[in-house]
Amino acid sequence: MNIELQICGLAVLIIFFIFIERDRKLNVKNRRLFVAAFIICIICLVFDIVSIVCIHEAVYNGFSPVLTRAVCKVYIMLLVTQGYCGFLYGCLDLTVQFRYKVIRALALVLYVIGEILIIVLPIEYHMDGRIVYSYGAANLCTYALAIFYISFTLYLTFKHKKDISHRRLVALFTWQGLWLVAALIQFFSKETLLVGFAAAVGMVVLYSQLENPNEHIDRVTGLFTQNALSLFLMDKYKYREPFAFYTAKIKYLAPFTELDIKNDAVIRSARAFLELGDEPVFRINDDMFCIIYESGDRAYDKLMEIKARADGVTGMPVEAKFIYCPDGTLLSGVDDVFNFIHCYEDSAEDIVICDQVLIDRMLHRRKIYNLIENALKDDRVRIYYQPIYNVKKGRFTSAEALVRIENEDGTMVSPAEFIPIAEENGQIIVLGMRIFRKVCELLATGELQRLGIENVEVNVSAAQFDHENPAGFVTEYVDEYNLDPANINLEITETADNDLKHLLLLNMEKLIRLGVTFSLDDFGTGRSNLDYFVSMPARNVKFDLGFTQGYFTNSKIRDVMRGMVNIAHDMDMKIVSEGVETGEQYEEMVKLGVDYIQGYYFSRPVPEGELIEFLKAGT
Ligand code: C2E
Ligand code: CA
Ligand code: CA
Repeated sequence: MNIELQICGLAVLIIFFIFIERDRKLNVKNRRLFVAAFIICIICLVFDIVSIVCIHEAVYNGFSPVLTRAVCKVYIMLLVTQGYCGFLYGCLDLTVQFRYKVIRALALVLYVIGEILIIVLPIEYHMDGRIVYSYGAANLCTYALAIFYISFTLYLTFKHKKDISHRRLVALFTWQGLWLVAALIQFFSKETLLVGFAAAVGMVVLYSQLENPNEHIDRVTGLFTQNALSLFLMDKYKYREPFAFYTAKIKYLAPFTELDIKNDAVIRSARAFLELGDEPVFRINDDMFCIIYESGDRAYDKLMEIKARADGVTGMPVEAKFIYCPDGTLLSGVDDVFNFIHCYEDSAEDIVICDQVLIDRMLHRRKIYNLIENALKDDRVRIYYQPIYNVKKGRFTSAEALVRIENEDGTMVSPAEFIPIAEENGQIIVLGMRIFRKVCELLATGELQRLGIENVEVNVSAAQFDHENPAGFVTEYVDEYNLDPANINLEITETADNDLKHLLLLNMEKLIRLGVTFSLDDFGTGRSNLDYFVSMPARNVKFDLGFTQGYFTNSKIRDVMRGMVNIAHDMDMKIVSEGVETGEQYEEMVKLGVDYIQGYYFSRPVPEGELIEFLKAGT
């Protein structure tokens, strides 16, 4: 009997099916449809074989022709079902949009009508040696439908090839193409019963290329990977299914714990998460897990359960930090979920609860992040300069460089909006280098020096002096632009981080030897205090704006400032008063004995062209 190929196909499918069933499954729609298509393919092959056996028995051994026809009909009905499933699976990514909902509904109507027609239309069979086939109106109907589904799937895939990954495209084309070629061969060479086998090979292609779950399994823990989480969440958002989640970030015993110990901690934690319930567990980072739940309440209960374990004795070997999100739909999509996690994974609290306030903050940070990235890319970082008056010399001998970002519409964004965020997310390193380069470019023209400016004050954050490149960018640019280091004064503020403070000191000493000077910025605020004043080798101390203005309203501040001026002078340091806005304030500051005065009284921060005009007008 001509059933060898079908039996081979069936064997291959069954073996693969056992593997598919054994896999840890990610419950997404794609996957469910794939498994459905796979099962239908198996049943279809079984009926393919059974129908040939029946025809054989009917022709040679008097088996019931009515039953034989019925079996043949079931077989071709299954073929149509397979075509329909293939269509659904192939177009899944496209079918959410409205238009495709209509197309999908049409395909379903066509499917139902087709199946009814097959039931009512006549079918005949033929057997002559190895040539076996059925024919008749029911068969014609099957051909028409199968060709419709295959060509429509191919057409839609091709039409949307830009939205579909290359890999998916190739797999879908191979699968559907195999079918088409097999059907054609079988049509012209009636004894080559290829269709069933081709369908089986097609399923294997799909499995290996698109549905292989091992790509989504982490090798160390056997949990799902971050990619798997993306896919899973995409499904949730696409089909608007509610979900909740929490992440757990393991706090290692020490930052440089050995890999073995880390892996052990990770594996044991993974096991503890799996024991919590049936929900999918993802390892989304070296030391971070995420578990998705159907409801916020259950997520919360489970979070408490695992936290109790972490704090207590069993299961989790080390402590963890959690982010708990009771309602995933608060976040607008997969990107937001990951952004939220990254934004808060290192926050100080042990459990961060995702609410609208935190989401808005995250979105704002994201917006600022993009603002800075784009400004760096499109060269929209601008430096404004505010002249600083030297009381003793009676003229402007210095200017502070203050950064702005120019919006596309020409308006300026204040540094108060983006500098704190850049300090947090590390962008300050690149941004700070850009600012410094721009200042160096201006100094290199020599224009300011000719107008009596002895140095430009540049604000730097402690984070700009990192480990790898001590004082690197400053010395590099000073060399590159061939500047006198004495033209540069760096303004620093306090940092709470002791390691950074240590690095900052090292860098300062190196730069001071070179000839660069330092100012202690924002004195009198939380950002700079007495401890800094004593421990930092700065040449100037800048009285903060609030401090300067407090002089006129608060007698205690007045006393402190008087004392500070004396101490600073005793220590050979100079005092700069910021935020001087009126003539009266100016007079008072001069009387107090400050050395430099900066403020709106003289000038607001202005672009370099205006600064040059301002200085020219004054000389
Ligand atoms: P800051 O270093 O204390 O800079 C002085 C701020 O006071 C500037 O605000 C300046 O425009 C403002 N100011 C000057 N005179 C007066 C006055 O008479 N009255 C009032 N009300 N304000 C006055 P700006 O330019 O908005 O900068 C804000 C902060 O952003 C700066 O405070 C500094 O901490 C940071 N920043 C600015 N540029 C840079 C930079 O290039 N790098 C770094 N790391 N931080 C910067
Ligand atoms: Ca400053
Ligand atoms: Ca300041």
